[in-house]
Amino acid sequence: MSFNIAIDGPAGAGKSTIAKRLSKELSFVYVDTGAMYRAMALYFIRGGIDHKDEAAISAACADIDITITYQDGMQCVVLNGENVNEWIRTEEVGIMASNTSIYPKVREKLTLLQQKLAQNADVIMDGRDIGTCVLPHAQVKIYLTATVEARAKRRHEELIRKGIDADYAQIEADIKERDYRDMNREIAPLRLAEDAVLVDSSVMGIEEVVAAIRSIYEKAHSKGNI
Ligand code: C5P
Repeated sequence: MSFNIAIDGPAGAGKSTIAKRLSKELSFVYVDTGAMYRAMALYFIRGGIDHKDEAAISAACADIDITITYQDGMQCVVLNGENVNEWIRTEEVGIMASNTSIYPKVREKLTLLQQKLAQNADVIMDGRDIGTCVLPHAQVKIYLTATVEARAKRRHEELIRKGIDADYAQIEADIKERDYRDMNREIAPLRLAEDAVLVDSSVMGIEEVVAAIRSIYEKAHSKGNI
């Protein structure tokens, strides 16, 4: 049986940075489920589909094929045969992903794919509903969060570092809006699973968070929880 680590939490809490590091240390496969929602969102944007048009979104799901491949340990999201990694990181795609991830057809498709990936390998999977819906039997569940201010500050610094002009107030407002949508949707909202360990990264460095989660994993592993 494979060992599954689920990491859920709001946008900007550091899930992907932490999950990538930890997956290298533990030789687990890292599965970024947000990237899959983003790939579907990219398809809807390219097709000019309105995010409010549930019928059109649901119909389009039948035309979308998403697969995951790995190159040098890096996840590639393949949308209808095209590696779309470089197109899915924009704010526009993130917002579309958040707006369209509320629909059952979108979630069904990706949940099944995610479950298959976790069946066949030891994975660290990050997202919003991994511990609650996708992998309810994951041996380790982490809810990684941080204050809105800490998350907005990190995002702002990241953009400035990349030489992108960014407005802090706008970033904070976008994060709040995305949190609200992800936490209040009807299906698979972001919430703390009963058996998840809450890790607040507001005042913790990356190494500290990795060490904290690693120690949670080691305890679960040594308990024979495999
Ligand atoms: O994590 P990331 O910002 O890439 O996710 C983009 C959006 O995809 C999220 O705001 C959320 O609405 C959706 N998502 C989801 N369930 C997941 C992962 C992401 O609904 N497991």
